[in-house]
Amino acid sequence: MQASSNVSASSHTPTAAIAAVRHNWTLAQVNALFALPFNDLLFQAQTVHRQHFRPNEVQISTLLSIKTGACAEDCKYCPQSGHYNTGLERERLLEVEKVLTQAKAAKEKGASRFCMGAAWSNPKQRDMPYIIEMVRGVKAMGLETCMTLGMLEPEQAKSLASAGLDYYNHNLDTSPEFYGEIITTRTYQDRLDTLSHVREAGMKVCCGGIVGMGESANDRSALLMQLANLPEHPQSVPINMLVKVKGTPLENVDDLDAFEFIRTIAVARIMLPESHVRLSAGRSRMNEQMQALCFFAGANSIFYGDKLLTTENPEADADQLLFKKLGINPEQRHDVSDEAHEMALAEAIKDQHTAPLYHAAG
Ligand code: SF4
Repeated sequence: MQASSNVSASSHTPTAAIAAVRHNWTLAQVNALFALPFNDLLFQAQTVHRQHFRPNEVQISTLLSIKTGACAEDCKYCPQSGHYNTGLERERLLEVEKVLTQAKAAKEKGASRFCMGAAWSNPKQRDMPYIIEMVRGVKAMGLETCMTLGMLEPEQAKSLASAGLDYYNHNLDTSPEFYGEIITTRTYQDRLDTLSHVREAGMKVCCGGIVGMGESANDRSALLMQLANLPEHPQSVPINMLVKVKGTPLENVDDLDAFEFIRTIAVARIMLPESHVRLSAGRSRMNEQMQALCFFAGANSIFYGDKLLTTENPEADADQLLFKKLGINPEQRHDVSDEAHEMALAEAIKDQHTAPLYHAAG
């Protein structure tokens, strides 16, 4: 039987979400978004995305591990935890000069933001002068700066902000209910406290989580609810797919269904309409089609380079090829007038150069 032609298309089209910034989501509302038919969910997410962002632009960051391994925390997914034997080679804090050399290379390859990560519970006071020098040096190159160093005291957050740190990354990881299954060495509240010190110091917040750790669908909803109900939405929201690393307690956990991951991106986009939603760890296990669906669902940020801390990341040239196939351009920074940088950014994506961007420590 032929489909009726007198039914208007709009009756088959879900109402486009009003992309208001809300901080009062309930679990039932988030679960209802996840339960939408896939096409309806993606339509809503794409509609919200277009209300707030250029639809064919993706922001590019580069990540360097400035101190690798031997972390005192016991995050069960993490090869850098000193609690597990993953064969990871430990590295002390990199010298400032080495970090600046890597940042320069990243900028020349098109990154607009340079993220520096240290496997620490929290930075020690003796390390702060070096950290501050790194921030100042990277900032002076015209790059946005981001760091992830673990928990911060209010004073440490203030000194990083004064040095010019734009973003601080500190993830919630998962729902409060599932959290104890993953980390026992610090509490959910510790994480919320650090986020509030970062906000109060005036820095932008990069905060997301990891899915595919054996959590329930409710936990994924509850994680997004926590993120969206923060006093301010994080400006960047990394959604990571667990990379199972041998030697960690999660090495044999069941895979998360790919559509469930794409749904998580779409729901994040709807609930966090003004945030950059970043496809982060786990992207190297996604084929081009899955990544394309994630971009359609509202992901608009990636890490670019051949290493993402200590886990794999698709090589830079593969990203360039995919961007070309999809007609995606790197997001231009509109808050700086560094034309040379803008040109380098555009060139990097056109360029089919195959050399790896950089190798993170370790
Ligand atoms: S995720 Fe961060 S805090 Fe947790 S073990 Fe790894 S490096 Fe340490």
